[in-house]
Amino acid sequence: MSENCIFCRIIRGELPCEKVYEDEHNVAFLDIAPVRKGHTLVIPKAHHERLYETPAPVLQRLMPAVARVARALVHGLEADGMNITQANGPVAGQVVPHVHVHLVPRFASDAEPRNWHPGAYADRAEMAEYGARIRAAVKAD
Ligand code: 5GP
Ligand code: ZN
Repeated sequence: MSENCIFCRIIRGELPCEKVYEDEHNVAFLDIAPVRKGHTLVIPKAHHERLYETPAPVLQRLMPAVARVARALVHGLEADGMNITQANGPVAGQVVPHVHVHLVPRFASDAEPRNWHPGAYADRAEMAEYGARIRAAVKAD
């Protein structure tokens, strides 16, 4: 728990939220500024800032909750699909430093299913160089 973290305060009941799911280790509630109505955040109760710094047991308990709440958006809101997204660090747009997974329900009528724009590598060699750097780091981890 972190004293001043907004999401820890929500977990402690010090701030209100529109809660849709809770278990021993996780909570899900509606995002206050929805990209699409029904936009839901699923968070572990343990305070960790970034997904890749979060201990594996916390993540192992989080993912089934994400899937369960995602199914609830599909069935409860009749969503046709979903964007599941997650930001790490201010440069990635993370505003609340408590790991959270965004569930954004999508509908057949949505104009733009995903608002990011595919880029390109200069050539095959540049792509291979990126692959090599990541493989080396995976090995070292
Ligand atoms: P991030 O930008 O860190 O990935 O996402 C943080 C999300 O938390 C934002 O989408 C924002 O709308 C939401 N948010 C921030 N403060 C509150 C709050 O007090 N209550 C709720 N329900 N959502 C919040
Ligand atoms: Zn927190």
